[in-house]
Order: sequence, then structure tokens, then C-alpha cells
Amino acid sequence: MRSPIDDYLQRVLRECRDDGGGEIAAGNRELERADPSSFGIALATIDGTVYTAGDADHEFSMQSIAKVPGYALALRDRGLDGVLERVDTEPSGDAFNEISLEAQTGRPRNALINAGAVAVHDMIAGADASERVDRIVDLVSTLAGREVSVDEKVHAAELESDDHNTALAYLLRAAGKLDCEPEEVVDGYAAQCAIRVSCRDLAVMGSVLSNGGLSTTSDERLLDGWIARHLLSVMATCGMYDGSGSWMARVGIPAKSGISGAILGVLPGQVGLAVWSPRLDAQGNSARGVAVFERLSRDMELHMMHVAPSGRPALRSVSERDGATFVELQGDVRFAGAEIVASRACEGFSTTAVVIDLTHVRVMDDAARRLVREVEQRLSDDHDTRIEDPHDLMDDAPDDDQR
Ligand code: GLU
Repeated sequence: MRSPIDDYLQRVLRECRDDGGGEIAAGNRELERADPSSFGIALATIDGTVYTAGDADHEFSMQSIAKVPGYALALRDRGLDGVLERVDTEPSGDAFNEISLEAQTGRPRNALINAGAVAVHDMIAGADASERVDRIVDLVSTLAGREVSVDEKVHAAELESDDHNTALAYLLRAAGKLDCEPEEVVDGYAAQCAIRVSCRDLAVMGSVLSNGGLSTTSDERLLDGWIARHLLSVMATCGMYDGSGSWMARVGIPAKSGISGAILGVLPGQVGLAVWSPRLDAQGNSARGVAVFERLSRDMELHMMHVAPSGRPALRSVSERDGATFVELQGDVRFAGAEIVASRACEGFSTTAVVIDLTHVRVMDDAARRLVREVEQRLSDDHDTRIEDPHDLMDDAPDDDQR
């Protein structure tokens, strides 16, 4: 059977073809050669299925989207506090290349504008720019599930028109926020912008972020959970240049766009999405890309604030047999699901024995585990209480939550 999702994406591609207008980014002779009619869409689920339409396997340079894996490496190398000393997490409300340094601290507002990304590149461990770039290329390859590389023509063209970024790097150095030589950092930053990917690659990368850093095909951990969560938080607030606030309200998908015309979107727990079409709107975002994301968000209710209740469905049943009350949970159990057990336990049980049955539970987070354990202990004062846990969910290591 052909999936209805393939047909749906084809229809979106057809219907958004005439949307948006816009102009190809000026200033980089390689980007200026892009075919304005190029148009691709990819959607990758956290179960590892990828749907595509149009030019989804056509390659282009990541541009600003490479700020995301660069940020991931700096966070891994320096920890959250180390990175926060140099780059904040506030939306700037300014254009991507604005000199948005905080008056008091000299920190760039966030890691997804150029000033922040240049400071972030400097924080990635490596003997020189080329080692840092290799590490970003490796991370993108790992997340995308195939080897990617730097487009040296785009890299060279970036360097021809990088006065602005070089000026930013000197300002950062003057503010004490740069260790390496400004020219070296700008060279590395320009190379990361020139990493070649396709919509399919970006959507797969997005699906890993959506899956909390776990591979969607093997359950291998590719990125720490706290890093994936932090990247998505900053993408949600700062990812769409100075249009970030209205994007969040209208589309509701944490995203990062780049001036080559790509947009990477990540809906936590559901999908990674990517659209590529080179013509840009006034904010520097792909005009058709924005139209597609608006469509997908509306048609498939992919807005992040459109959330299914997670409490009630976690309670499968409460029943009595053989002198015991069985409280059966199911599916994904988080705080709201565990709270239902706590509130039911507060009502009291008439049987001597109580069993909290996790047989049908798929995943539990640490908050749910702690609450269920606490309920078990309190119930034990008056009942023979046990947790039926055939999948050892109560033993899982706590989330690698705070760094
Ligand atoms: N190479 C571009 C620059 O740093 C990337 C900008 C973007 O994609 O927003 O100016």
C-alpha cells in the first residue's frame, strides 16, 4: 500500500509551489546559483520512517542550521554553565547578523544568531578550526545516519564575504568571549555553514532530537538527553531569526532556518521535519518553507502546544481479585499518570493487598518512578503492597536531566 502520508506531502508540495515569493540570499556567489524552483519536503518519525516529496535528496549547504550541531558540541565539551558564561539563551528580536551583545556582560543573546554561533564555535574542543569542523561534520553524519562533508566552494565563497562575521569575532574578543584568533574562528564557522545536507538528512537529524537524542533506528544514544532538550528550547525561542515569536504562535514547532532556504523543525516526541526552497522572505526564512510548516502544523495538528492529556490514559483499570486491588497502568507514564495513582491511593482501598501493575507500561520518566515508589511506601503502612514490574521500569537510571 502507498502511504497516505506520501500523498499528503505531494499535495502540500503542489499546493505550496506558488506560495511566498521571496528572493534567493544575496552575498554568497555559490548560494546565488541555487535554482529558485527547487523544493523538497521530508518528515522522519521517531520510529525511523522517513517520508519525502520533491527534491528531498538534493543537497544544499546547512548555513545557519549548522549552529545547532555546533551548539550541541560546545554544550558537550563545556557543560551548560560553561557555555552560559559566554552565550545567553534570550531571543534577540534582531536580524541574524545583528551585533546583539548584552550591555552588562558582553555575551551574545543566544547561540542561534551569528554572534552567538561564532562564540560557540570557539568553545568547541579542537586544536584548530579544521579539527572543530571535523567534529561538527562527524556529529551531523551521526545524527543524519550517513557521511556528510563540507562544500569547499561554498566555504571559499563564505570567506570572501565574511567581513561582518569577522567584525563580530573581533568584538567578541574585545569583550573577553573568544579564545582563538578571530580569523581562525570565522574560517571554522564559515566551514560549518558549508556542510552539505539534504532535506532527508535534516529530517532524520530532527527525529533524533525529537526522540530525546536516541537513534530512531537502534535506540543507541547519539546525543545526551539534556543537550537535545536544551537545543529544542533555544530553537523554540530563538530559531527563526527575528520572526521567532510569531513562528511559535502560528506554527508551534521548534525550528532553525538557514539562508540557503532550508528549515529544520522538531516536534518533541513526534517527528523531525525539513523543507528546502531557496527563495527567502523578509526575515530571511524560506518563503515556501514557512508556508509548508504552516500547512503541516494546521493540517496535522503538529503545534507543540496541541498536547494530548497524559494523565487519564495512563490508568488502564482498577479491579479487585483474590483479595487484592490491582491498579493497572499503561503506555507512557509521566508525572500526570503517576499522580492519578497517588490520588486514587489517597481515596483508600478496601482490600488488604494492593498491586501497582506496570505490565502494560512502555516508558516511565523519573518523576513518575519517584512518585509511584513513594505511593507504594505510604500504602505499605496499611496494606501488603507490591509493584508488579516485569520490564524493570522502576530500576531505570534517572534521566541525565541537569548538567
Ligand atoms: N553563512 C551565513 C552567515 O553567517 C549564514 C547565515 C544564515 O544562514 O542565517 O552570514
